[in-house]
Amino acid sequence: MTGHQAPPEPPSSLLPLPDPIGLANTQLCGRSCLWCCVTLPADAIDLGERQTPDGTAWFPRSCRTCTRARVNDALRAHKAFCELCIEVDIPCATRDGLRALAHGGAR
Ligand SMILES: [Zn+2]
Ligand SMILES: [Zn+2]
Repeated sequence: MTGHQAPPEPPSSLLPLPDPIGLANTQLCGRSCLWCCVTLPADAIDLGERQTPDGTAWFPRSCRTCTRARVNDALRAHKAFCELCIEVDIPCATRDGLRALAHGGAR
């Protein structure tokens, strides 16, 4: 008998997000990039609903330039400890998810 397998974490959860306390309203509701504050187009990258420390939902979204930079950092950090990514030809859901996120393909 095998137990339940934990669902993979969404790749956006690997990106370090800024403290929502210091963000503008437009950033909290996803109308502007949470990193550079640029007004976002409809196809901006959705990082998924989050909760502030006091339990309020916020909706981080980001522009492609910022997302790609953060994803590259997260990939580098991930590869430092991921046993799958040390062997480059083994598929890794986390690595693939991060790459898809950088291209706006993940939801
Ligand atoms: Zn940005
Ligand atoms: Zn990996």
